[in-house]
Formats: sequence, C-alpha cells, structure tokens
Amino acid sequence: MTRKERFAACIDYFQKAMPEAETELTFGNTYELLVAVILSAQCTDKRVNMTTPALFKKYPDISSLAKAQYDDLFELIKSISFPGNKTRHLLGMAAMVKEKFGGEIPMTVEELVQLPGVGRKTANVITSVVDKQPNMAVDTHVFRVSARIGLTVGAKNPLQTELQLVKYIPKDLVYIFHHWLILHGRYVCVARNPKCNECGLRAVCKYYQTVVAKEK
Ligand code: SF4
Repeated sequence: MTRKERFAACIDYFQKAMPEAETELTFGNTYELLVAVILSAQCTDKRVNMTTPALFKKYPDISSLAKAQYDDLFELIKSISFPGNKTRHLLGMAAMVKEKFGGEIPMTVEELVQLPGVGRKTANVITSVVDKQPNMAVDTHVFRVSARIGLTVGAKNPLQTELQLVKYIPKDLVYIFHHWLILHGRYVCVARNPKCNECGLRAVCKYYQTVVAKEK
C-alpha cells in the first residue's frame, strides 16, 4: 500500500467513524480557546475544563486578564500542572496582545508564536480551530498514531511529522484530521497496549501489519 492510499483509507474511515471530531476543550470564543490551550500543556483537557469556568468568569477578556494580579490568577489555576509558569504566560500573553496587537488576538502562526506560552503547536491549534487554516498541530498522540499507521515515515520530531502530514492531507481536511488523530490516540491507539482489536484501521496500519499480526 502506498502512503497516498494509506491516507485515503484513513480519511475514508475517519469520515465515517468520526464525522464531527472537534477539540474536547470547552471554549466560547478565540480568547477562551487561547487561554485553554495554553493551560492544556502537559495537562488533561478534563482538568483544564474544570478550571476555566471560574477563570473566564473573573477574567472574561484580554483586557481584564491583562490587569489581573499574579496571586489571584495563580489561585484560580493552581490545580493545573506548572501553575507558576502558566500564570506568567497568561499575564504576558494578555499584555502583549493588548500592547503589540491592539487588543486583538492575531490569527497567523508567525504572530501567535511571539506570545508568551504559545509555541508552534498552540498557534497551529488556534489558527486551525478558529479560522480553519490548514495547519497541523502535532501533540504526542498525533506524533505516535501517525507513525504507527505509517502516515509518517522516520519523523524524528513534531515539525517533521507536521510537514509530512500536510503534504498528503487535502487542505480542507487538515483541521479535522488533527482531531481524528488525537481522539484515535486518546481512546484506541493508546501509548501502551494500543487497542488494535477494537480498531477499524487494522487493514491499513503499518504497525498492525508488521508487528501485531506477526505475533499472532
Ligand atoms: S491497528 Fe493498532 S496500532 Fe494501528 S492504528 Fe489501530 S490501534 Fe493503533
């Protein structure tokens, strides 16, 4: 099976299995999504979703967040991993959006990565979720699942994975493909002991064909 055929088979499968895939973070606008994604670094979406309602109530927009006091904000997010760093990132992000971008969250990867706490992965999430731009955010699930299926070959880091994936995925499907891979990695193709017996991708999965099937 060629890589092109593998991508086509995955698209076919996911379109039927998960036609509505989207982020599991709870948000109501771009500001809330940006805050939630910054908080979600090395933390579960579930934990972030438990934390953000109180944060958004007290700081409903960039301008209120830019005026927040460190201790008050820290108190609201202290149950999340790395609360000190993330408090600094949120304050720095709000200040920069206000001062450098006139209070409007920018919508290009190049501008977003200038904000504290925002790396390429976060910028790709924001631009693809909010604006459907064909930017592939690569987290641990996307990295692992793409390699196992054989959608990427020899990718050594998230950037190599990203570049290989966007080369093959039709532009209008990049946004949803990201969510397909994350959800598949979270619930089926888990890091340890992937649930291959429950997986509808066995026929196209390189790992299944070359490792699992041979062990049987
Ligand atoms: S067959 Fe197994 S390794 Fe391949 S995608 Fe499915 S769960 Fe992952």
